[in-house]
Amino acid sequence: MNEKIGDGGGTRGPLEHVERCVPLDESGGKPDWYYPETDPNIYLNTHCNIDCVFCSSVNEYRLTSDDDIRRLILANKHTISFEGGEPTLSKDLPKWVRFAKENGVRETVLCTNAAVFENTDRIEELVTAGLDVFNVNFPAHIDRLYDAITQTRGYFHRRVKAVKNLIETAGGAKVRLHVVVNKFNYKIMPDYARFVREEFPGIFFVEFNIVKVLGYVKQRKFLVPTLTDMEPYLLESWARLRRCGIRFMTDGFPLCATPGFEEDSIDAWKLARLERRYINEKAQTPRCTGCTLVELCPGPRRDYVLLHGDGELRPSRKSADALRRRLLRDG
Ligand code: SF4
Repeated sequence: MNEKIGDGGGTRGPLEHVERCVPLDESGGKPDWYYPETDPNIYLNTHCNIDCVFCSSVNEYRLTSDDDIRRLILANKHTISFEGGEPTLSKDLPKWVRFAKENGVRETVLCTNAAVFENTDRIEELVTAGLDVFNVNFPAHIDRLYDAITQTRGYFHRRVKAVKNLIETAGGAKVRLHVVVNKFNYKIMPDYARFVREEFPGIFFVEFNIVKVLGYVKQRKFLVPTLTDMEPYLLESWARLRRCGIRFMTDGFPLCATPGFEEDSIDAWKLARLERRYINEKAQTPRCTGCTLVELCPGPRRDYVLLHGDGELRPSRKSADALRRRLLRDG
């Protein structure tokens, strides 16, 4: 019998044989890029109402105390991101959003699975508190695949409705989708782009993240496809989004794995502005020697290289100056 988890429809599904509690590694659950003093990510809780197979939070122990939340909000005037677990399950979420806005934080972001936003009152409550961005984990546009990835059953159409509620109630400019690209979904990415265009017109943008070897994935490394396998599907997906004018961003993909879409990399965008937060998750390797884009590309994720090596990297001959100009032009 499936175990119901909260109000999000969570059930143990096709991976129920895998232990939920991943043993801690020597880091004590804290990755080496964790910024305890200035991290703009605030972890309001550790539980969730779905159970994504790639969840990077499980056993990473990033719960933030009230004192820390206050300190981090006061130390980060640019952006604060509320994460979890599923932060909408914390009754304190509206309070902290309000506190952030009252203390001059430019942008407040909520990372959510959107389960609670079947109820539009919850959307209005957060918008009134001052929330700027709803960043929705939406890992697949096919119901059975959505079920398999989130380990739920039969909730896909309700999640689509929840995203539509967000667009209608908060406005598309406040809604992003993020998709963690993994072994289960990388081949459907071209059609995912079509689905976004047809079902979510007006959405602000889509964020493509390479799956991290954190949380569950430490024991499910099969979920990490190679860059070579992902590339043709992602390039087609991004080309479709670009053709229909939907903005998107890539995170964790080295620039040589995104030919033609280098200017859509969040890392390149940051490096063009001399910002290095979270860059430490990635590192160039000896194969990057001689690449013309070394100043704008942090290299692949370190955890990816530990798993698949660096043999796929292709030093670029493209002009870094031209790319920098395009990156700085985009605000
Ligand atoms: S070779 Fe290295 S620096 Fe150059 S684009 Fe690839 S990962 Fe980035």
